[in-house]
Amino acid sequence: MLSGRIPLVDPHGRKINYLRLSVTDRCNMRCFYCMPKDGITKKEHGGILSYEELLLIAQAAVGLGIEKIRITGGEPLVRAGIVGFLSQLAEIPGLRHLALTTNGLLLAEMALDLYKAGVQRLNVSLDSLNPQTFSAITRGGDLNKVLAGLQTAEDAGFPPPKINCVIMRGVNDAEILDFADRTLSHGNSIRFIEYMPAIKEDGWQRYCLAGDEILAKISTRYPLEQVEKGPFSGPSRDFRIPGARGSIGIITAVSGHFCHECNRIRVTSTGQAKGCLFSDAKTNLVPWLRPPDREGLAAALRRIVSSKPAQHDISTDGYTHENFMMSQIGG
Ligand code: SAM
Ligand code: SF4
Repeated sequence: MLSGRIPLVDPHGRKINYLRLSVTDRCNMRCFYCMPKDGITKKEHGGILSYEELLLIAQAAVGLGIEKIRITGGEPLVRAGIVGFLSQLAEIPGLRHLALTTNGLLLAEMALDLYKAGVQRLNVSLDSLNPQTFSAITRGGDLNKVLAGLQTAEDAGFPPPKINCVIMRGVNDAEILDFADRTLSHGNSIRFIEYMPAIKEDGWQRYCLAGDEILAKISTRYPLEQVEKGPFSGPSRDFRIPGARGSIGIITAVSGHFCHECNRIRVTSTGQAKGCLFSDAKTNLVPWLRPPDREGLAAALRRIVSSKPAQHDISTDGYTHENFMMSQIGG
């Protein structure tokens, strides 16, 4: 019998220890790069999984060697009952790290409950510190609520949340240094994410700004030292301004392959499992959930790991894939 202590390794020698589990495809924002302005209407394969079904998946994954689970969405905090579900996840033996990614709108109300439920780390997506730009990107989001949520999270006992920031040329690239400053002033770690062509609207390339350009901009004001990777670090290159509490990470999904470091699998809220964000290949886990078949589920997850592609073929030209909404996969 396999236990969480035996590493789960794919055919390319990568240790797979991280599951991104989406609990909903609904959201209380409409970021223009992620969702159509009217939201999502189409549901695949019989709707959203129940919490019992999501828990079965999480337990099977941890049984195979997954050590970290990140709950994502859509916006995970809009799903009723999420706090109770998180506390069930936190109790899975062998799960070492439970994290959640949120847009932060509901954090001021929910941070304390999330902390008590056993969530260890929060990532908050925040693409602008300017209220107008923030509202334009999110189609109406209120920056002040997110900033209040960041503070409430710390007051509740969380370490300063990590901020995910999608940098888009001509939209928020003028704020790169403001975000970098926050690693000194507020202790947040910032992860700059290259804009990805999820929806592939016409002219999407104009938003792309390579990670190296982001680093070069920060280096005009601050020296940067390289940061050692932790056991659950994802595929970001991490740096620190000397003396800052927070680090600066760069995720170069488009300009540079980080696939050789990929440590994750993904499961959507409808039970579609994916070994690669940018591959159209997916496996429907529902047949092993209704009725529950733990062994079949574990075998299906194992197959997803063993069929993980060596690398994706995303690039700024000549790249084709089915359009997808990050809100359905969870980023
Ligand atoms: N609603 C939550 C949030 O926004 O944090 C969780 C789900 S969201 C889909 C997860 C992450 O995907 C966010 O950090 C978001 O910025 C990122 N994302 C969505 N669409 C993207 C795109 N086209 N390019 C790069 N990142 C994207
Ligand atoms: Fe919602 Fe997150 Fe997508 Fe923005 S990035 S629309 S907050 S799911």
